[in-house]
Amino acid sequence: MPTNRICNFNAGPATLPEPVLKEAQASLLDFQGCCMSIVEISHRSEPFDNVINDAIARTKRLLQIGDDFHVLFLQGGASLQFAMAPMNFLTDGRSADYVNTGTWSTKAIKEAQIQNKAHTVVASSEDRNFAYIPKDIRFNKDATYAHITSNNTIKGTQWAQFPDTGGVPLVADMSSDFMSRPLDMSKFGMIYAGAQKNIGPAGVCMVIIRDDMLKLIPDGLPTMLDYRTHASKNSMFNTPPCFAIYMVQLVLKWLEETVGGLAEMEKINRKKGDLLYGFMDETTFYQPTADKDSRSLMNVTFRLPSEDMEKKFIAEATQNGLGGLKGHRSVGGCRASIYNAATYENVEKLVDFMRTFEKNNA
Ligand SMILES: *Cc1c(COP(=O)(O)O)cnc(C)c1O
Repeated sequence: MPTNRICNFNAGPATLPEPVLKEAQASLLDFQGCCMSIVEISHRSEPFDNVINDAIARTKRLLQIGDDFHVLFLQGGASLQFAMAPMNFLTDGRSADYVNTGTWSTKAIKEAQIQNKAHTVVASSEDRNFAYIPKDIRFNKDATYAHITSNNTIKGTQWAQFPDTGGVPLVADMSSDFMSRPLDMSKFGMIYAGAQKNIGPAGVCMVIIRDDMLKLIPDGLPTMLDYRTHASKNSMFNTPPCFAIYMVQLVLKWLEETVGGLAEMEKINRKKGDLLYGFMDETTFYQPTADKDSRSLMNVTFRLPSEDMEKKFIAEATQNGLGGLKGHRSVGGCRASIYNAATYENVEKLVDFMRTFEKNNA
């Protein structure tokens, strides 16, 4: 691997583990001795069957789930899931609860609205620019599902604990923190995650759906938009995004065999977050934007004393091999995305740079 790779803090598509990139590089010419590239073989072939089935098996082991869950690989990104969830689950007078914690939640709510699907926004943190995760939410007992965004990529907040819904299944957009910590899967009816933040390249969205959720689906939906199509065909009703699925498989293998599972991954993520937030808490030069108890361990958003100073910070960081620190264009400021594949050493380098920059500019 060339040593000119930067410390990559991009929000997504984002950094991936180096051993994964290396293995993918080798497979691009000759996949497991079949003398063809991984992108040149049929999705109906035995080698690819092994890839997708291994990815599913690893997902189930990492999340400790059994056959009551289906692991799907779909296209259209997390954004299509915003529309598919209400389309599949909200017929026959059923309604869903939504919690609005930022840009992506707002988009999810809008897709239920467009389809005229009954829904209630039971809580929102919009009053303070989405700087916190709402507490003590009252969910409707008869809601079909309760939708949350587990990690708010743009606003830099994350659910530390999942809410008590009184038994209503959670449907969670986990695009930016999927596989970053263990989950109590008994709370979830469905999880979805665009791969390009934490588990692979762009082009595939993972959907983990509990079997009983499939019973809610009405007949008559377009084939590709009906979860049952994909659950019954092992995500191969049509040609799946083979290369993206292959890379997800490699990331899951890395999580299991190199990292040692989700509890270990969480420990490392916590250590990285503690280092970066801990440093910022000792200065007033850098101001985290999220409330302390709502801070994201994946996307660390912060401000400097002025916008000009932020521009200078981002430019000098780039010169020092620290990339992707610009905040989302809708909110400005700075953001360090420290997903699973961002190493503790890289976060240390960032903190060192921040300390020096403050000394020179405060
Ligand atoms: C990036 C992101 C999305 C959008 O994902 P696409 O795969 O681009 O549709 C949705 N939700 C969250 C939380 C995200 O971070």
